[in-house]
Amino acid sequence: MIPMYNEEEVLPLLVQRLRPVLDGLGRTYEVVAVDDGSRDDTAAIVHLLRAKWPQLRLIKLRRNSGHQAALSAGLFRSRGDYVVSLDADLQDPPETIAEMLQAAEDGELDIVYGVRADRSTDTSFKRITAGWYYKLMRRIVGKKMPDGAGDFRLLSRAMVEALRGLPERAPVYRLLVPWLGFPSGQVAYTREKRAAGVSKYPLTRMIKLTADSIVSFTAAPLRVATWLGGFGVLLGLALVVKTLWAYFAGATVPGWTSMFLVVIFFGACQLLCLGLLGEYVGRIYAASQGRPAYYVGYDSDGDEETDGMID
Ligand code: UDP
Ligand code: MG
Repeated sequence: MIPMYNEEEVLPLLVQRLRPVLDGLGRTYEVVAVDDGSRDDTAAIVHLLRAKWPQLRLIKLRRNSGHQAALSAGLFRSRGDYVVSLDADLQDPPETIAEMLQAAEDGELDIVYGVRADRSTDTSFKRITAGWYYKLMRRIVGKKMPDGAGDFRLLSRAMVEALRGLPERAPVYRLLVPWLGFPSGQVAYTREKRAAGVSKYPLTRMIKLTADSIVSFTAAPLRVATWLGGFGVLLGLALVVKTLWAYFAGATVPGWTSMFLVVIFFGACQLLCLGLLGEYVGRIYAASQGRPAYYVGYDSDGDEETDGMID
């Protein structure tokens, strides 16, 4: 299962490398290409490629819904006993799929993580920010989450059904998968360079993924508000004592500085706490609206109307 957003340049290379691997497995398979509302010719090209590769299936989302939503669409529509998700840009080497399948069957595992043994081809900015992200996430979900495991992984049918049963609005699969606690294994691989095109994960999307990851797994940020409140009360008490002291000592200073400091400090605390509440309330609101995370416009193996989306 491969989410794709504006990946037309990389498609021919992807097919060239993926097909021999899958044909070599000696099993029946399908390749679910999820077009995440690309504005380029990704869907049209996949559609053309299908003529020569019947196992290739095209699912077209009506609009760009983001990587995790595209993963949902692919995951919940794929039909195999095992489902592997990989990036379209060949950063996850398709050859690893054979190893993952072997590991899953030998160990009767429900999850086999692809773990990046070497990220030297990523930019240093990406590596540093990713390093922070994984550190933070491991604190949140616990040690079960392997270091360097992204969205390149194999899941069993049982695991896919378990994920489908979660009512999550903004699922972050790399956290949900370890959290469910199914038996898992790992296969190391070397992260390659993007084969063509540019990254579809700008900084804003990385920030959103991090916010979703934190908010969907812990209420700890709300506790920050409690701590700040406690600190504020202590500071306030100290200032009351100091003011009274000054009053009784007859030293009636104008006290502009302390006034200003207190106003600024408490103002900032209140804004911060409001913002934290807002993050959670916003997600509760989104969940109560119950809008689906994505809309499928076309599925080459399903019964949706084509709607003139492919011609
Ligand atoms: N992707 C997607 N929807 C988006 C953004 C990205 O389906 O809105 C896909 C993209 O086509 C690729 C995968 O997610 O197959 C990972 O994206 P990318 O390789 O650009 O991320 P990076 O490797 O730079 O983190
Ligand atoms: Mg990539």
